Amino acid sequence: MKETDGIRVIKGIGEKSEKLFFKLGITSVTELLHYYPRIYDIFTGIVPVASVSEGETVVIEGSFTGKPAIIQTRQYKIIQAVLRDGSGSIRVAWFNMPFLLKTLKVGMHYILRGKIYVKNGTFQMTQPQILTKEEYVKWLGKLQPVYSLTAGLSNKAVTKAVTNAIHECEFESDFLPIEIRKQYGLLPLKKAISMIHFPDSKEDYAEARRRLVFDEFFLFSLALNYMREEKQEKPSEYFFPSTERTEQLLASLPFSLTEGQKSTWDDILSDLRSGFVMNRLIQGDVGSGKTIIAIIALFCAVENGYQGAIMVPTEVLARQHYEEFNRYLEPFGVKTVLLTGFMTASEKKEAKQLIKSGEADLVIGTHALIQDGVLFHDLALIVTDEQHRFGVKQREAFTEKGKNPHVLVMSATPIPRTLAIILYGDLDISVIDELPKNRLPIKNCAVGTNYRPQAYRFITKQVAEGHQVYIICPMIEESEAVEMENVMDYAGSLREILPESIRVECLHGKMKPAEKNKVMESFAAHEIDVLVSTTVVEVGINVPNATVMLIENAERFGLAQLHQLRGRVGRGTAQSYCIFMAGNSSRETMERLKVIARSNDGFFVAQEDLKMRGPGDLFGIRQSGEFYFRIGDIYQDAKELRDANEAAKSFTDRDVSLLCKKYQGLRKKLEKYAGEVSL
Ligand code: ADP
Ligand code: MG
Repeated sequence: MKETDGIRVIKGIGEKSEKLFFKLGITSVTELLHYYPRIYDIFTGIVPVASVSEGETVVIEGSFTGKPAIIQTRQYKIIQAVLRDGSGSIRVAWFNMPFLLKTLKVGMHYILRGKIYVKNGTFQMTQPQILTKEEYVKWLGKLQPVYSLTAGLSNKAVTKAVTNAIHECEFESDFLPIEIRKQYGLLPLKKAISMIHFPDSKEDYAEARRRLVFDEFFLFSLALNYMREEKQEKPSEYFFPSTERTEQLLASLPFSLTEGQKSTWDDILSDLRSGFVMNRLIQGDVGSGKTIIAIIALFCAVENGYQGAIMVPTEVLARQHYEEFNRYLEPFGVKTVLLTGFMTASEKKEAKQLIKSGEADLVIGTHALIQDGVLFHDLALIVTDEQHRFGVKQREAFTEKGKNPHVLVMSATPIPRTLAIILYGDLDISVIDELPKNRLPIKNCAVGTNYRPQAYRFITKQVAEGHQVYIICPMIEESEAVEMENVMDYAGSLREILPESIRVECLHGKMKPAEKNKVMESFAAHEIDVLVSTTVVEVGINVPNATVMLIENAERFGLAQLHQLRGRVGRGTAQSYCIFMAGNSSRETMERLKVIARSNDGFFVAQEDLKMRGPGDLFGIRQSGEFYFRIGDIYQDAKELRDANEAAKSFTDRDVSLLCKKYQGLRKKLEKYAGEVSL
């Protein structure tokens, strides 16, 4: 079996399961090998039954207090028994396994492993595994992989396929040059892959992960280095002599710019007048007011007779920007045109026509902007908002819509400067490091679910005062469909609990763009009081009248993502509140949430997050999708990022040819990488 083979060569994968693997994006043996576990199930030691808590998977040991009984319900045959140890007793139950009745004996000692639920107010271990002493000893302390799945494909099936692939596959030789591997003390690739799936200990996991993270950062840095070599400072043919009307716009704003905004605008203006093409990143925390800077810069392009365009990641955001642009620029006679994927064919046609003829001064759009048929008249400045949602390739395609236009990208991702220089290698950076003065700091609290009634009372009060509320529903790893159900159920029960006059609506990823827009627009127009949503509200939404955000199951989010979510409130002059509600109240959870509750500063939160997450961290936190890293985390793995960047630099500095046989593997990998991450 070779790495490039399709997955059907793996024992146990037939036509039917192949399709399911496809759904997970796994088509080849390599892809399966690099399908890393989402989290690990840690096989911990025996605990007293009196110490269990809800949701845990634990091992207990004891004997049955009486003969196990069988109960027949409409759907199941349930075997029930009570297990006692020195500390107390607990109910255990097995579903549809009536044959167990014969084997379970009173007076015998059993070791059981299973998840604890609360049933009718008491704890119950459901569907436990029955372990022999030998099995228990063998598994103790081991980590078992838990993969992201799709309906029909079990964790066991994926585990088995991975096991087979690791055993049967003839691995290609390690692509990472041996000198680099030695210098940084990295595992060979094959070893790292087998260990990331089946680590014997947390230390093993950390070592395996370090190698794979290094790989990812190394390829990224290398690709960026090669790209940068091609990209020298280019002279620009767009000149910006005039700023009189831009000054008028500045004077007409209902607020004055913050110092950070001012210095950013100064940076931009001096770039635009330098005679060279601008490539600049604006980094500013959520709510720091990046949009207005884009508006000013784009207006300046219009004032000087050119076209400008801004690309945003979502339909909703495009529309929101469109309104905001018009609010500021229509009085100046600027013609702004919207172009998004979901507009009707004739609307699109009309927009494209206006863009091509130059009647459109400014264009706001989604990915639709970089499609083939979109031709600009005289594009001098392009802006990408929420840049982390786009690949370098998409940014590049945007650039190609003009003749070396000036480029501005905006990001809210708080990254320390040293890392930003690596990650945004090709860009100059301006930082907006303060929020507008008229904001009151958001008041935060980290609470358990028992706080919910109080939270609802608070929400009711805020709505009565004319404010609006976001509720972020638990995130479900398994599927969007379940997530949707969850949001709808939640909204349904909320309607029953809250006073009838409160208008509750929901927003989720399964909705069509048109529906999403409608909901977002009605929320913005205050026709909705409480918006129950998945994380789709995360990106850039600006409804200043919303003053409360309640995040359910806050422990399931990374701190950086919680910070982004929180950024949806505190955007107006009224006091805003963010309630982080934890689904479990373990010490670890509460400590993490207290960090974010303590500070509204994205940099601080990111730093603290980093401190708390050691390299052996097995938290199953879904990444917020920043950059294009599958396993690497720019905060947690900051050291690897620096190392890999240094390694890549020394590699390109030596000016070795990738065509040399020794680096064949690396070249292949680099080409594939550049294609996949759309670099
Ligand atoms: P982000 O940086 O997260 O994209 P926005 O650009 O959406 O933030 O700005 C958030 C809100 O702050 C908007 O309502 C905007 O009008 C307002 N705003 C921007 N700059 C200032 C300022 N200097 N003073 C007061 N309000 C401002
Ligand atoms: Mg924004």
